[in-house]
Order: sequence, then structure tokens, then C-alpha cells
Amino acid sequence: MPTDTTHLAFVALGANLAAPVQQVRTAGEALAELPDSRLLQLSSLYRTAPVGIRGQPDFVNAVAALATGLDPQQLLDALFAVERQFGRRREFHHAPRTLDLDLLLYDDLVLASTRLTLPHPRMHLRAFVLAPLVEIAPLCRIPGRGSAAAWLPAVHRQRIEKLADCHQPQ
Ligand code: AMP
Repeated sequence: MPTDTTHLAFVALGANLAAPVQQVRTAGEALAELPDSRLLQLSSLYRTAPVGIRGQPDFVNAVAALATGLDPQQLLDALFAVERQFGRRREFHHAPRTLDLDLLLYDDLVLASTRLTLPHPRMHLRAFVLAPLVEIAPLCRIPGRGSAAAWLPAVHRQRIEKLADCHQPQ
């Protein structure tokens, strides 16, 4: 369970190899097990067009809200550990992946270190982040960019389809 100093973090989940629906669901369960953290909400799952490289399979994406006592770097390390647990290979940028976890927001922190940029620098440009984020946090604001919902019209050409009832834990 989180300690007294609890922070609100949003994490994007994505997979496009090896049973991606199951990967994202199981990754949600893994996020619920992170140390000093509690899974507040997991969005619906969305099937989305791959960004960057054509010809790779569609992605399955979701966004999780976490209450956490971890600091941002500790949380990023914990997310990398979950990615490794799911056998993620970092072959090249935009490569197909078993599981990709991105830290989108950590409270209203703005940070640019070598390992971590907050808010995630491209989150406002991606339908696969904005749609699930706004689903679970309709009033969410992206520091420096304003309302997350207000960015949705700008990404309306990106293909995204909500999957029915895939977010329910089994
Ligand atoms: P990717 O392979 O696209 O998941 O990018 C992972 C790389 O981006 C790692 O080297 C991270 O250290 C770096 N990074 C910077 N900011 C973030 C962030 N907000 N969330 C996840 N990774 C980040």
C-alpha cells in the first residue's frame, strides 16, 4: 500500500506482439503489484494503428492511474522491471514490442533529465494515450499543454477502436 506521501501517476501500456490483449491485462495486474503503490484505475483496452513504422501489427493500448509513494525515477525503474518481466526487447525505435510502459504524468511535475521527461513529451499527440487517459480522468491537465481532452480533436485521424469489456479483471 502507498505510504503517506502519495503521488498520482498515469502510465501508458501498449503491446503489439504475442497476445497483446492478454499482455496488457496482465501488465495491469503487474502494475497493481508495484511496491508502495496502488492501482486506482485501468482504462478500457483500445486497438490502435502502429505509429512510426508501417506493416507491423496493431497495438493494444490502455492507461492506468496509480497512487504511489515511489519517486519518479523509482517508478520508471519499476516500469522497466515490469517490461523486462514481459520479455520486452529494445531492438530499435518504434520496433514491435511485447510490452511498452511509459510514464505519462506524475502529479503536475515538469522534469527533463537524461532518463525521464515529464510530462511524456509526445503524449498530447497520440490518440492511443489521450483516449484512454480522458476516459479515466476526463478533467486531466497536461502541465504546459492544458486540458488533455482538448487535444483529442487534433488526433482524430489516428485509428483507434475501443475493445468491448476487455478491461474487466478476470
Ligand atoms: P521507449 O523505448 O519508446 O519506451 O523509450 C524508452 C526510453 O525513453 C528510455 O530510455 C527512458 O529512459 C526514456 N524516457 C524518457 N522519458 C520517459 C517517460 N516519461 N516514460 C518512459 N520512458 C521515458
